[in-house]
Order: sequence, then C-alpha cells, then structure tokens
Amino acid sequence: MEGSNPTPTIPADFKPAILLVEDEKTSRLMTARQLTRAGYDVEAVSNGTEALATLARRFFPMLLTDWDMPGLNGVALCKAVRAMTLEGYVYIVLLTARQGKAHVIEGLAAGADDYLTKPPDDGELRARLNTGLRILQLEQSLRAANRRIQLLSITDALTGTYNRHYLMEQLPQEIERSRRYRHPLSVVLCDVDHFKQVNDNHGHRAGDEVLKSFAHLLMSSIRGGSDWVVRYGGEEFLIVLPEAMVANALSYADKIRATVSEHSFQISGGTLHVTASFGVAGFDPLGAPDPAIVDRLIDRADSCLLRSKEGGRNRVTGEMLISTVEPSP
Ligand SMILES: [Mg+2]
Repeated sequence: MEGSNPTPTIPADFKPAILLVEDEKTSRLMTARQLTRAGYDVEAVSNGTEALATLARRFFPMLLTDWDMPGLNGVALCKAVRAMTLEGYVYIVLLTARQGKAHVIEGLAAGADDYLTKPPDDGELRARLNTGLRILQLEQSLRAANRRIQLLSITDALTGTYNRHYLMEQLPQEIERSRRYRHPLSVVLCDVDHFKQVNDNHGHRAGDEVLKSFAHLLMSSIRGGSDWVVRYGGEEFLIVLPEAMVANALSYADKIRATVSEHSFQISGGTLHVTASFGVAGFDPLGAPDPAIVDRLIDRADSCLLRSKEGGRNRVTGEMLISTVEPSP
C-alpha cells in the first residue's frame, strides 16, 4: 500500500506483439518481413481459426489480418476477437484486395480499426500501425489512471492504510476463504490512548502526524501479502490477520503494543510518546455459517478493546469468537 506508482511512461520505441493472419504463403512471408523490419514482434498464422487459438494462448495488442481467407475470414475474425474477453484492446487492421466503400464499411462495422489495400506499401503500413500505437498508448495510460483511481478509492488519504470501503468488500471474502479452507483468521482492533489530548495539547496537525506514524508502525509490523490494515475510525485501526490463530494474534498485538509504547513520535516542535490499546478476536473456521459474522467479529474485538481501555490502557485483550449457531450435523 505504501507509495504510489506514477503513471508509467511508455518508451518511444514501444513496439507491441503483432499477430499476422494471411492464407497466402508468399504474402504472409513478405508482410511478416515488413513487420519485423519495422521493429514488431511478429507471429504469423495462416487462417482465422488458428488466429483465435493463438489469441487464446497469448495476448496480441495488434492484429493485421487478411480479409479473404477460407473458413473464418477477416471480417468474421474481427467480430470474434471483439467478442473475446482479453487483457487489453486489440488494434485490428484489415488487409484487403477489394475496393469500394461498401467493403470498407463492412470491415469497420465488424470491429476493424483500419484497413490497407494489398499488397501493403511499406511506408503506409508503418504509418497506419503508428496510428494504432498511439491508440494503444492512450489505452494504456487510461488503464494506469483507472488503476490509480481504484487504489485511491480503497485507501485512507491521511495514513495510506486501506479504508472502510475496502474492509467491507474484503473481510467477508477473507472470512469465506478461511471457512472454505478451514484456516484460522483473527482481527486486531487498536486505538491510540488519550488521542484527544494529543489534539488538544499539540494541535490537529500534530494529531495527524501521530496517526500517520502509528499507521506506519502497524503497516511495517504485518506480513506483507496476507495481512492488511484498515483505518476503522478516527484513531482506530483494524488489522486483519488471515491464517493467524487468536493466540498468535495476541502475541503479535502485544509486540506492536510494546513497539508503539517505546516509539518517539515526531511532531513539529518535538517528540511525543503515546500508547495504544488492543482488542483481538479470532474466527472459528469450523463453526456454522453465520451471515452476521463480520459484524460479530469486529464487535467482539471492540468489546475486548473496551476491556483493555478499562483495564488501564496500553494492553491487549482477546478472545475466540465461538459460533453460537448450532453446527449442522
Ligand atoms: Mg487471402
């Protein structure tokens, strides 16, 4: 979750893989050579059916196909490719010996982006494919922007942890996985002690600094790839530990509790010391299905957290959430 990737820049010599489909051997060899000379990574096949099989195995962002072919012709191939779910857009250019507007319209309507008259002139082929490259580059930056927006929509802006939106989407799935594979799962709810005093005595900016550092300590304490941290409320964070039994989650929470209590939090004008309280709840993967499990698990962690607060703060309390529903025979 940490850091964010800027929109990747596409190198000027970006030449994607291109699939050439042509039934006449001589034309196929000649066009393949033209493409290779232009710097493309070319794979050539001799009919539409073969082209579809090749596309199912490997993604080609560009497709240059002959129109007249026995079996699946270029137009039918265009339609079939457009109906496929692929990892990105395929820029399709039709090669045709045919003349006339009606044919061009038919080809474009079938999903082709452009067409070329056979045999393709070298300069024109390169220029038309360059147009395709521009479209593909636009598509890639659009995808990168979408990924970035997607990431922002699940990230807490201040601390960089996940947000509640992500929690509500992800925790039910995590629990379902845990039940299916009969693996344990625990959650740790933690809250910075007397956080209001930090804000009151040092200002909200200092409060924000403390929250950022606190979140950073949490994020660097988890196992990457499986565990995750959510900002649950103002100064409250939830850590999801798939595969962790409640005993492991308790010792993890106690370790992070100690780390927090020993940490010097940098704020402008000095350092601060804070503590945090923790509530741990473990999920029983062998229990009966419970539609309210997410809420019950978090509620249980919350009541444990409350006990930590009442017990004097800077401590960890936890318990196993045993399903109250009768297990089916
Ligand atoms: Mg042909």
